Amino acid sequence: MNDGFGLRGAAPRRTTTVVIGAGHAGLAMSWHLSQRSIDHVVLERGEVANSWKTERWDSLRLLTPNWQSRLPGYGYRGDDPDGFRTMRETVHFIEEYARAISAPVRAQTKVISVRHTGEHYQVMTDQGDWHCDTVVIATGACNIPQVPALATAMPATIASLTPMQYRNPDQLEQGGVLVVGASATGVQIAEEIHHSGRPVTLAVGEHVRLPRIYRDKDIQWWMDAVGVLDERYDEIDDIVRARNVPSLQLAGSPERRTIDLNALSGIGVKLIGRLAGINDGKAQFSGSLRNQCALADLKMNRLLDAIDEWASANGFDGKVAPPHRFAPTEVEASPPLGIDLARGSIKTIIWATGFRPDYSWLDVPVLDHKGRIRHDGGVVQAPGMYLMGMPFLRRRKSSLIDGAADDARDLSAHLAAYLVERSAARPAEQLLSR
Ligand SMILES: Cc1cc2nc3c(=O)[nH]c(=O)nc-3n(C[C@H](O)[C@H](O)[C@H](O)COP(=O)(O)OP(=O)(O)OC[C@H]3O[C@@H](n4cnc5c(N)ncnc54)[C@H](O)[C@@H]3O)c2cc1C
Repeated sequence: MNDGFGLRGAAPRRTTTVVIGAGHAGLAMSWHLSQRSIDHVVLERGEVANSWKTERWDSLRLLTPNWQSRLPGYGYRGDDPDGFRTMRETVHFIEEYARAISAPVRAQTKVISVRHTGEHYQVMTDQGDWHCDTVVIATGACNIPQVPALATAMPATIASLTPMQYRNPDQLEQGGVLVVGASATGVQIAEEIHHSGRPVTLAVGEHVRLPRIYRDKDIQWWMDAVGVLDERYDEIDDIVRARNVPSLQLAGSPERRTIDLNALSGIGVKLIGRLAGINDGKAQFSGSLRNQCALADLKMNRLLDAIDEWASANGFDGKVAPPHRFAPTEVEASPPLGIDLARGSIKTIIWATGFRPDYSWLDVPVLDHKGRIRHDGGVVQAPGMYLMGMPFLRRRKSSLIDGAADDARDLSAHLAAYLVERSAARPAEQLLSR
């Protein structure tokens, strides 16, 4: 809603906190700010749940079961807690949440700059400016597809798509497809395109293999129960590494299918090593496929060991299926190390190589040399500025819908304490002149 006040040239509006982004993370923060009676607005460049509405492919379902989308003050209310939401259902869920908590969302309001005047934050938008004491950045971790530089060497005859451009296989020319990247996005898109009848080659680098179901329960149920998802950022040896671990090789489907590399090669998807370069129209692949797969198998088995240990200690033995292990990932003895792209067997390349946030609008010096925001568990290195929704921000689950509640609780408490400290430090005349 825009009331015309605060548009360019008009006086800026004032609030205590501006939350930028009305995805689930911004909304979870809004709930906590309301609980603390902190005056705020949520500025959103599109509509509530914009990323799920505009940036995902048609067939995507959440890979987290319904019960695992717990937002503050709002649990799952349907009759299928173990199901996986479609995109339409996900959008509906987040819209319903925004309504239920009466979040003060200003839609169609794009933040174009945030700067600190020394006294307060100045948030400039295409619908006028705001002044505030504190800012919460909840603009998402996945604003821009991360395409490797080597993509520029791709022959012009081959179509190139990012997951944000991909909607369904009908978009693609007939013929072979190379999907680069075997994390959640890559394996899901590779499987769908394979079923459309196009031959699919999947370039596999580092990945996290997981079964959908283990010992009668969803793997997310086990990880939640064991406490893996609650591991904190300040208890991890190498948090930089942990924040860069690829997404889980999982998909949500009504059949609760496992979508690991064995499942994909079993239906005819060709596995190949990590794409290492493109030279003179030839794609070159790393010879590390076997090692990458062995490492992923090893890490999966370590997690299953921890689950078995927890299950025994907590009385689950005899109540669920006994411990078992999955077949190691099968890899061709000598997978090809190159494909001549000029030969025409590959018509499309899909870059499922990850995403990154976009902070081009942020004029506060808080970015490191890689363009990431410097922060300590979401407390940004600028007074009164906070970050939400990033991988392993405060906990392993921080980038999941289910992670927002705990993070927003912690960070809203920090923000409230900051406001108290700030007002105590301010001379009385400044407070009166506001
Ligand atoms: C393909 C994919 C699948 C995923 N699947 C799951 C899953 O199954 N389960 C799960 O728990 N998580 C999943 N995630 C992770 C995560 O939950 C989503 O990325 C989620 O959208 C992040 O929520 P968010 O609120 O942090 O960010 P977003 O939902 O991206 O919300 C950020 C909002 O900020 C707005 N915005 C950005 N810039 C500006 C600006 N300058 N001014 C105003 N507004 C702005 C955007 O329009 C957007 O609405 C998935 C992520 C991806 C990419």
